[in-house]
Amino acid sequence: MIRTQDKFYITTAIDYPNSDPHMGHAYEKVVADFYARAYRFRGADTWFLIGLDEHGQKIQRAAIESKRSPQEFVDEKAEVFRRLYDLLEISCDDFIRTSQERHRAFVLDIYSRIRATGDVYKGLYRGDYCVACERAYTKSELLDGKCPVHGTDPIAEELESYFFRLGKYREPILRHIRENPEFICPVERRNEIIARLEEEVLDLSISRNTFDWGIPLPDDPQHVLYVWIDALSNYISAVWEPRDRYRRYWPADCHVIGKDIIWFHTVIWPAMLLSAGHPLPKQVYAHGFVLDEKGRKMAKQLGNVIAPLSVAEDYGVDVLRFYFLRAFSSGADGNFSLAELEERYESELANDLGNLILRVAKLVRSRLGGRISTPGYPRDLDAGPTLEAYFSHVDTREHHRAIEALWSYVRRTNAYLNEKEPWKAKDESLVSEVVGCGLEALRVIAHLLEPAMPATARSIAETLGFSLRKLPELYAGPATYEVAAGKPLFPARESSRGGRPGRKAPGSRAPVLQARAARGARRRRARPSRRRVAVRHDGGPGKREALDVRRAPGARRGG
Ligand SMILES: [Zn+2]
Repeated sequence: MIRTQDKFYITTAIDYPNSDPHMGHAYEKVVADFYARAYRFRGADTWFLIGLDEHGQKIQRAAIESKRSPQEFVDEKAEVFRRLYDLLEISCDDFIRTSQERHRAFVLDIYSRIRATGDVYKGLYRGDYCVACERAYTKSELLDGKCPVHGTDPIAEELESYFFRLGKYREPILRHIRENPEFICPVERRNEIIARLEEEVLDLSISRNTFDWGIPLPDDPQHVLYVWIDALSNYISAVWEPRDRYRRYWPADCHVIGKDIIWFHTVIWPAMLLSAGHPLPKQVYAHGFVLDEKGRKMAKQLGNVIAPLSVAEDYGVDVLRFYFLRAFSSGADGNFSLAELEERYESELANDLGNLILRVAKLVRSRLGGRISTPGYPRDLDAGPTLEAYFSHVDTREHHRAIEALWSYVRRTNAYLNEKEPWKAKDESLVSEVVGCGLEALRVIAHLLEPAMPATARSIAETLGFSLRKLPELYAGPATYEVAAGKPLFPARESSRGGRPGRKAPGSRAPVLQARAARGARRRRARPSRRRVAVRHDGGPGKREALDVRRAPGARRGG
């Protein structure tokens, strides 16, 4: 049985825009977008929130360095982030920015509730502060006295601060986590948090009077709220008005975050909510980091940074999305490898999927005059188990397994056509039956592909003459399809050492990129390619014909 759900409110962490978006930002949005789209397809009333965390000392400093006011600085950055997310087809319903008035209003509301509960007091804060992390560390958290992230010397500080009685909520939160196995996903992160909660939990410093780019405390405006109460509140501030929206969507069904901020989301945030009297979110799902192909952090100093925009530009947005979702195990770190991306492009996208679409389209056009009637479901290729497997992996936040289940079905459909050999059949009704089944299988495939590759799903639908629907209307009865001439969705790529692209896959047609793409094309024409791998789609028995495979010595791909 595929579980249904009335509403689904999903959020990502809000990004800190002190510099431009990197691969990790793109990855997290694509993962969350997959789930938002999968739930929409299943019929849930879905609300998807992303946004920016715009306050704090690092932003204030970055603004001064670029000779702008903090507000001007974040306004510009917000455009950069939004452009990337538009390009990646992140289907968010709202984009919250913590410098917005609606956010400030809610933060003051929740702060006053927490204060009214008696959970705020003034004290003296002692810590070893790392400016880059924008947080203080306890002695035991430092590595050889240095910041565990940056390896720099922290600044010892002692300052007046307001505190939140976090320690008071240790027991109730520990109980909540134990009683709700789905609250923290994956289970490794859950165990980690339980172990930490079994030790002492200190109260939390929640204000600073050392900078002013933030939300001032109403009762002591020398202080601004420090990071967490401000930032975490976005998940409600974005749905707080109109109040119907809050009643409809809160509590959130899934907070998608990086594993490094899980303590804040599974302990501090619930403690704030308990104190203020809001229901707790249903789930916090932590994903891993995007590392380089050798498993190292991407960093400017290491010269191993790959920008999401350049990959989207070279390979197409959908190919990047597919690679993130298919190649990186949910919850674990992923090693980003362009060589692996190219492998998957050729074997899974061009060969398995692209070939299947072209074979079906070509057979309908060459043998049936471009028109085909079907019973409305894939008679010989029962998609029921695939749909069930797919959604059970969606429910357990294992998107890579959901896509694996989908790909098994893609391969099964190819194998079915190979076995039936409709291109050899003399009898037109037999051709129609087999190819109709292939087309219906592709209709299921397009729907399950949509959360991962929305532009590709639209292209398949357009070529084969159907429209994308919700799951309950997937099998709406007998149908006739007008099939257009198929263009390859995943054309052969011309590669060279520099990884220069061939034609674009769908989803890559962002105007902002056209000029650079045109420059790339001119360079390509000017220089003969070293290697050309072509996949021919002739509606035949699905054999790949490598027209010209000349791999230059030392060409980048392995194997
Ligand atoms: Zn640091």
